[in-house]
Amino acid sequence: MFMSNIILSIIYKYLLLKELKKEFFGITLKVCIVSRVVVKIVTRYAKEGVFKDLEMPFTPYHFGPHGCVGLVFKRYLDLPVFLLANVAVDLEPLAVMVFGLSYPLHGYFHTFLFGTFVGIGWAWVAYPFRDVIKLVMNAFRLRYSTTLIKMIVSGVLGAWLHVLFDAPLYRDIRPFFPWEANPLYDIVSMSAVYRFCAICFISAIVLYVLVARNYKTTKIAKS
Ligand SMILES: [Zn+2]
Repeated sequence: MFMSNIILSIIYKYLLLKELKKEFFGITLKVCIVSRVVVKIVTRYAKEGVFKDLEMPFTPYHFGPHGCVGLVFKRYLDLPVFLLANVAVDLEPLAVMVFGLSYPLHGYFHTFLFGTFVGIGWAWVAYPFRDVIKLVMNAFRLRYSTTLIKMIVSGVLGAWLHVLFDAPLYRDIRPFFPWEANPLYDIVSMSAVYRFCAICFISAIVLYVLVARNYKTTKIAKS
């Protein structure tokens, strides 16, 4: 009886593992096919200099790396604050373009020093809306709990990561202000950065699907 229980439990675990593997590899395969296509398109356009010609802050491409980091460390980071810190930093070039200001496209917001204040400011603005953010996150099947400190840390790290990804692409960025130089400019090619961001974007979608599925099962288990 005891032996048969052990055998049954081994078979059950084997089947469960097989099922999980199937599910995981099923999603991964689909995502790999889509990512291959996306990476090919992005690389082609990046090589033709299409993004460079746009002369605009390409905020959405930041969502790939930020999404991956935010989802992997979602226990320690406030995912929406971390992710949307990109928008807060890029309000600067947006304002320059919209109002035609005589101010560099990537000025103080795109420095680690002032990026810190942008991150803190953004967290301070978002904090009163934490209950609304929680509702939105739950609608996206993501668990959410936060504190002001978590929001500030996420806002600052989000802004810093944004500066780090923009610095190799734009000559006018001074990441280490008050030092005026940009030692990070052109250390990697523009197409490599865009390709990396596209891969991160796809990986972030895989991570999101896995996390959201887990949310569903925990909900069912609880009820
Ligand atoms: Zn930017």
